[in-house]
Amino acid sequence: MNVTTLPKPPRVGLVSLGCPKNLVDSERIMTKLRSDGYDMSPDYAGADIVLVNTCGFLDSAKEESLEAIGEAIAENGRVVVTGCMGKEADVIRNRFPDVLAITGAHEYEQVVGAVHEAAPMPANAFLNLVPESGLKLTPRHYSYLKISEGCNHRCAFCIIPHLRGDLVSRRPDAILREAEKLVAAGTKELLVISQDTSAYGVDMRHKAFPLKSGGEVRAHMTDLSRELGKLGAWVRLHYVYPYPHVNDVIPLMAEGLVLPYLDIPFQHASPDVLRRMRRPANDAKVLQRIRAWREQMPDLAIRSSFVVGFPGETDQDFAYLLNWLEEAQLDRVGAFKFEPVEGAPATSMGDQVPADLKTERYEAVMALSARISAAKLTAKVGSIIDVLIDRVDDVEPSHEGVDRGHFDAPHAVHHHNVGATGRSKADAPEIDGEVHLRDAGGLKPGDIVSVRIEDADEHDLYGVPLETVAA
Ligand code: SF4
Repeated sequence: MNVTTLPKPPRVGLVSLGCPKNLVDSERIMTKLRSDGYDMSPDYAGADIVLVNTCGFLDSAKEESLEAIGEAIAENGRVVVTGCMGKEADVIRNRFPDVLAITGAHEYEQVVGAVHEAAPMPANAFLNLVPESGLKLTPRHYSYLKISEGCNHRCAFCIIPHLRGDLVSRRPDAILREAEKLVAAGTKELLVISQDTSAYGVDMRHKAFPLKSGGEVRAHMTDLSRELGKLGAWVRLHYVYPYPHVNDVIPLMAEGLVLPYLDIPFQHASPDVLRRMRRPANDAKVLQRIRAWREQMPDLAIRSSFVVGFPGETDQDFAYLLNWLEEAQLDRVGAFKFEPVEGAPATSMGDQVPADLKTERYEAVMALSARISAAKLTAKVGSIIDVLIDRVDDVEPSHEGVDRGHFDAPHAVHHHNVGATGRSKADAPEIDGEVHLRDAGGLKPGDIVSVRIEDADEHDLYGVPLETVAA
């Protein structure tokens, strides 16, 4: 049997100099790197790369920054410089030609990009919460917001708890502060991530923290979601387990505070397989719960992932899964063939499923979910939905305003030949589908537009913008 040995994530050391503002920048950079899967190193020796966040306010501060860079070069050798002294890249380069990259203050994307380039994250679905292509290219208009680290569960196929330890939640006020800053900097969509979002705050016994605006917020998924929703950006919840208290998030969707979207990693449906997988929130009432959520929130989009070929998965277990999927009518489904990972209990379980049977089952799940997805998307043709623009095609807009006459909309914007691609509330970046727009001149990434849907295929929608509803 081939056993995958998980690569260790690179470790980043940080030297943060200067004022509290610089410290906040350092925190932000580290939060991003942690959510990208990097580990931290408390010393030079254990670091794969060292980040020096400099201060250049006074000459003495500059000298201190240069000394810190010199020390990091001598002790480690692989150094990225950021912060206020980034403005004086020549001075740094003259003295330390081996510095890997230099970026300026508040250039988060650049400094995170430089770390990714110098110490790339190994591609691995078990290590990365965030899709790979989301790492380097996360545009300004959406941001991942990590609310906790680690996990209290011990799923048989997973080694995250061994790598990251038990669940440790971030303080809700700190999360809100970060989210506020992201929104102020242009974020239109906050993607809440963790290993187990529904368990957020359990380690803090859901303690309440004062808010600077008055009132308080409990370290609890529902309370945090409500406060995040007040910031005015789309709030999308990932890695939610179907515990009963998830019921309380559905009214927040109805109020427009949280997107009608849940990413629930079910992984399987057969009670036997789930038990052997040691999955959390594994109760037989999940289908009823989904039905009740949809009654309250008919637009709710549910995405999930499933593992096929887990050791001991019988034909009956697999048939159960297919029937369950047919019943559950999930909007988006990802499937994975079970892969033994070094250190995970499932790796040494008997009854490993042969590779060709795994492939057969994988294809059956993909075919069924493509059929369900196509039917669900076709049902959206003719409707008008909000779309957040991710990118615009590089074609010159024509300002003639040609009406192709394919629909009769009083506010229609007609710029021929210009395309744009975005996502509806039902689509998370990278992992779900997209909405492709025709006649999309005048739009820019980050705009939210009202779109009339004209066509659909298995994964994507196609339509025409009507008017910008928010910019
Ligand atoms: S819930 Fe299970 S699969 Fe997810 S991180 Fe925790 S142990 Fe791993």
